[in-house]
Amino acid sequence: MNFLKGSKLYSVLTGTCPVCQEESMYKDPNPYHISRIFDMHTRCSNCGTRYKMEPSFFFGAMYVSYAVGIAFATAAFVISYWLLELSLLISFFAIVITLVIFLPIIVRWSRNIWVNFFFTFDPKKTKN
Ligand SMILES: [Zn+2]
Repeated sequence: MNFLKGSKLYSVLTGTCPVCQEESMYKDPNPYHISRIFDMHTRCSNCGTRYKMEPSFFFGAMYVSYAVGIAFATAAFVISYWLLELSLLISFFAIVITLVIFLPIIVRWSRNIWVNFFFTFDPKKTKN
């Protein structure tokens, strides 16, 4: 994944600070620890970026999660209906199951995409 470093995609996929990309924004990097899924550091300990710019900042991630959810649902449909040639009903259940299984990842990626709308990567703030 290191070849992506410096791009927004790196920050989105890894959940690292959008400005320096040196450390995780989350106290627990594993999204499948559901009870801690929203636990974020207030600031980046490396560059001092404050992730939550204003109260309820991450409500906006809801809109992003809609788009990310559609992307996962579309992928599930394409794989089950066209690649595996399952019936429409089974494909529908495949979509539901996919969305449930990937929900923690969808939630985290949505936040990462949202925060990356407002911050840009600054190579001067990295460690090396
Ligand atoms: Zn940082």
